[in-house]
Amino acid sequence: MDALWQRVASRVRDQLGEVGFETWITPLNFVGMEGRTATIKAPNKFFRDWVNDRYLDLLRDSLSAEAGMSMNVTLVVDNHNGNGKHPTTVHKPTAAPAQPAPPETNGSAREGRTQLNPRYTFAEFVVGSSNQFAHAAAQAVANQPGEKYNPLFVYGGVGLGKTHLATAIGHQLQAGQDRPRKVLFVPAEIFMNELISSLRRDRMGEFKEKMRRVDALILDDVQFLAGRERTQEEFFHTFNSLHAERHQIVLTSDKAPRDIAGLEERLRNRFESGLIADIAPPDLETRVAIVQKKAALENLQLLPDVALYVAQNVSSNVRELEGCLTRLAAFASLNKCAITVDFARQALKDLVREQEVKLDIDLIQKRVSEFFHIRLVDLKSKKRTQHIAFCRQVAMYLCRKLTDSSFPTIGDRFGRDHSTVIHAYNLISRRVSNDSGFRHSIEKIERDLKNIRPDAA
Ligand code: ADP
Ligand code: MG
Repeated sequence: MDALWQRVASRVRDQLGEVGFETWITPLNFVGMEGRTATIKAPNKFFRDWVNDRYLDLLRDSLSAEAGMSMNVTLVVDNHNGNGKHPTTVHKPTAAPAQPAPPETNGSAREGRTQLNPRYTFAEFVVGSSNQFAHAAAQAVANQPGEKYNPLFVYGGVGLGKTHLATAIGHQLQAGQDRPRKVLFVPAEIFMNELISSLRRDRMGEFKEKMRRVDALILDDVQFLAGRERTQEEFFHTFNSLHAERHQIVLTSDKAPRDIAGLEERLRNRFESGLIADIAPPDLETRVAIVQKKAALENLQLLPDVALYVAQNVSSNVRELEGCLTRLAAFASLNKCAITVDFARQALKDLVREQEVKLDIDLIQKRVSEFFHIRLVDLKSKKRTQHIAFCRQVAMYLCRKLTDSSFPTIGDRFGRDHSTVIHAYNLISRRVSNDSGFRHSIEKIERDLKNIRPDAA
């Protein structure tokens, strides 16, 4: 059972990002399973409510996916936690948790995530240079569905707002300026699960009906279709049918269509036939704006220097920014005190890797050469042996990613042209997103770099 929970946890971690996971999932304890209901203990009531509101669907879907059938999750408060004043209560009591879930709840559990998340609206989306284009494209689609850009394909890294933006289109279409539209939001994984279950139950007619009888279909995380031929085939037909009727299709993915390995050519062509918009990690100003907006939405009083502190110390993933804010809110409400920078530093100390050292090109060059056991002079030289060239590309990539330096500046410091740096950056970025083993190595170097103490540098 613990092994199952481990697998569920790792799925959840992928979705939530490290900070969100550490903040909200690590403190949970898996108690056990009865029938199709897993019981999970939260350390206190605040925690339980928070997780219930935000992550219950995610937990349930991840568990269902791992268990291969639809499951329920019940969160209870752990009152052996030195916090005995809260009775153990079940937030959303299920009819009979000890019994296997009745078939009706199976359906609803599976469809849990196919509802539009009410928080993901245009009004709550902060626009900055990193997502401006995708945002404009999304608005255009929301205003003229099926006409201008069909499909709209939004891609970008984890936690950068793809699902948020796609959902915002859905909300606006449902509200409908001229008429309300029928919108279906389906994570690609659920598309596959429903397909399989329809095939098994000989209900393909219903499945097709459900996917096609809509004004707009949002398929979230299409990279999930990679290598799943039968699902791709079915989606190909769904796509064509919707497209022929000029119904809007919105797709999100963590990669551009051309970079999704294991995607059939004909689907790739379809995906590329509309508008492709990418979302990049937000810059500092946008991160500050996001922190402020989220804080306002949570009714959290945040001094400007605290907003800046959080934005500076959580680099790219917006979900992680949110994780920090929710933890600040939790700490502040438990301790009943104002949030100062010192308080934030204390509350977030195990979540943010404070950049005590301002990373600069020199330091990155030095560390990368140490990491790969090559000489610093070789790293900066014109030598083209494969290994050295590779280390140099990694160093260039990290310089671009971890410092504010421009491509030409980095080029100067390596005695190269800016185009060489751009090439290196693209090459390594692509490999980072396609090859998880490689990504882990790069992340390790990044962690090492960020953990350097000033005295050790
Ligand atoms: P993705 O689908 O790209 O992994 P999500 O859309 O799930 O990311 O976004 C992760 C979290 O970050 C969500 O809670 C979302 O509301 C928030 N978020 C991301 N980008 C923005 C933004 N530009 N403005 C406001 N919130 C954002
Ligand atoms: Mg998403």
